[in-house]
Amino acid sequence: MSIEGKIGAQLTPEEIPLGNLEVLAFELGLAYTNTYLLGDPETKSAVVIDPAWDGEQIAGAALDRDWQISAIWLTHAHFDHFGGVSGIVKSTGTPIPVALHPLDFPLWQTNGGAGYFGITEFESGPEPTIDLEPGMELTLGKYRFEVRHTPGHSLGHVIFVSEGLGAVFCGDLIFSGSVGRTDLQGGDWNTLLQSIREEILVLPDETRLFTGHGPPTTVGKERRSNPFVTGEIL
Ligand SMILES: [Zn+2]
Ligand SMILES: [Zn+2]
Repeated sequence: MSIEGKIGAQLTPEEIPLGNLEVLAFELGLAYTNTYLLGDPETKSAVVIDPAWDGEQIAGAALDRDWQISAIWLTHAHFDHFGGVSGIVKSTGTPIPVALHPLDFPLWQTNGGAGYFGITEFESGPEPTIDLEPGMELTLGKYRFEVRHTPGHSLGHVIFVSEGLGAVFCGDLIFSGSVGRTDLQGGDWNTLLQSIREEILVLPDETRLFTGHGPPTTVGKERRSNPFVTGEIL
């Protein structure tokens, strides 16, 4: 039995134009995780970043737009960032490669901590076959996304940086006014702050941050007002 769709979720995605791409942002699952479906209207190719839950809905939104999901990119392997993978793959009926940093594979193997959060039924979907490494380039349409390794929230946490789009998909590294928790397996506070300093704060102020939870923000806004970044909260 599937647990897909049982949990309250925001199934109507927000449409966000980003360069020539269309981004559909869903807030899904019991952790209200942001899932991003990125489509290239020209090639009809699409990728999903962190399919949190309700994979059938994500696949349906792609189908509605005649997009083919060519890959699933995971920022990290907490259950609330890949609980929708199995539903996507089942809905499309085609194998879709899943990308993850190998240091988060042990976390993936334990269902991303789903049991710890009281979720007894969890379908992890196909095993990741694309090993993400720092500096690796992923593409969608004419846009490149560089993989940066940003440990601290989990050992193998990564972000996807597109300089061409001026945008970062940053998972649970940093949020609007907050940062990722470090009390779970593999978490480390100083490492998290170092990742934010070295991979986020080096980017131009206008760079848009699409976070794993909560509203999008920008590097400049977080640089000025995020209390964990300014040192107001240590
Ligand atoms: Zn997480
Ligand atoms: Zn999360």
